[in-house]
Amino acid sequence: MPEKSEASVEEILARQALDLDRLKDAFGLLGVSPCSWCKKFLRRSDPGALFDAGGELICYSCIPEWWPQRCAQLSTKDRESLEGKLVFWLRDYHHAELFKDPAKLPESSLQELHIVANCLECRGTGKSLGQERCRYCDGRGTVWVIVSRKKG
Ligand SMILES: [Zn+2]
Ligand SMILES: [Zn+2]
Repeated sequence: MPEKSEASVEEILARQALDLDRLKDAFGLLGVSPCSWCKKFLRRSDPGALFDAGGELICYSCIPEWWPQRCAQLSTKDRESLEGKLVFWLRDYHHAELFKDPAKLPESSLQELHIVANCLECRGTGKSLGQERCRYCDGRGTVWVIVSRKKG
């Protein structure tokens, strides 16, 4: 095999990509993963740090920016299931509250996160099984998911 004195740009890039992959693997072993959106590394074991959106991990601070763009790319069915998962995750880890009346939302300066979602109970139809008005969303089919700013 002839030895090359100078590596081509492609070779250097390929080597760097390999190094980067190895680095990512190493980070993975350490229990940290990058947010797919801002690329910041976060500890996976921190509850509520990263949302697993089925293949991609999104950090909490990127959710408001990421979600509207992500859900625009999804089919109705996929959007529904991912949205449900996201709402539960926000409730479990970030004490998100669901509001059915937009007039009752906390002041916007007190909101840390604000997402409008389909009502999980009636799947956005506004009707319960008996065709009555869904009481979880007051028949709007929409709920407001709010995380309040932490005080102090
Ligand atoms: Zn992020
Ligand atoms: Zn409903």
